[in-house]
Amino acid sequence: MDKHYYSRSRQPKKKSLARLVIFLFLLAAVTILSVFSLSQYMAVQTLQSKHNSLEERLEQVEEENIMLWQLHDELYEENVRLREENKMLRSSTVIEHGNREINKVAITIDDGTSANLMHKTLDHLKEHNVKATLFPMGSWVEREPEAWQRAVDEGHELGNHTYSHAFLTTIPEEKVREELNRWEEAVEEALGYSYETLFFRPPGMDGFTATQNSQKQRLMEIIGEKGMFTILWDVELIYALRNEASTPKRITQHVLDNARGGSIVLLHFTENDIAALPAILKGLRDRGLEPCSLRELLLADPGT
Ligand SMILES: [Zn+2]
Repeated sequence: MDKHYYSRSRQPKKKSLARLVIFLFLLAAVTILSVFSLSQYMAVQTLQSKHNSLEERLEQVEEENIMLWQLHDELYEENVRLREENKMLRSSTVIEHGNREINKVAITIDDGTSANLMHKTLDHLKEHNVKATLFPMGSWVEREPEAWQRAVDEGHELGNHTYSHAFLTTIPEEKVREELNRWEEAVEEALGYSYETLFFRPPGMDGFTATQNSQKQRLMEIIGEKGMFTILWDVELIYALRNEASTPKRITQHVLDNARGGSIVLLHFTENDIAALPAILKGLRDRGLEPCSLRELLLADPGT
């Protein structure tokens, strides 16, 4: 009886314990799943909000990008306009001197010379620590490439004076371009790299102080297109001293009597002009005028 009772009473206990275990197991599983789902849900939410803010940022970046492109286009157009204006400005500008308020005088030396005289010129300029602007013909640069290379290496600048000293207002347009281009080629060949100059000086003045004519106008446009200014001078010797013996002393005197702030002095690579060069440089400084290159004169701030 006892045995029977015992066995009957054990069975339900076992079952309820098993149910409890299953129940607890299920509860635990549900809880774990719930927690897991909740954390998944929260992770998704976080990702979603991150995604949203990234999308917003992307939209902003796209908008900024569009704005930058617009700005780029505007700047590009402005640049084209300024270049055009610059070209017009250059093509209508003939410079005879710089700002009179500046106590500087540009030293420019034209044509070409033997390597010997060239090195003597560069020695004088070096000794006085002066940078000058030299206007050689391309044919002279071809003849003495090392000397012109030395000139550029020592900080002097070169200006286009045509290849063969041609008077550009009297030859056809294609010849004009050829004269200017061959100068560039000769200089590039001598230096070993392409050299851009801001300055053009018409050989023999070539009618540049005479009244306008259509050929000169066209020539000025070509010079402007090539990015150059036409440079004349306000102190020179060939015309001024044509009826006098131009000794180095007389040359020096004439330059010192006539140069003032902003002047552009025209010398040539002749024995007499180069012999006068040291006294000219010293004399200018004694008068409070600093000899310099065209770039230094024309790009200087007033008061410097
Ligand atoms: Zn010349």
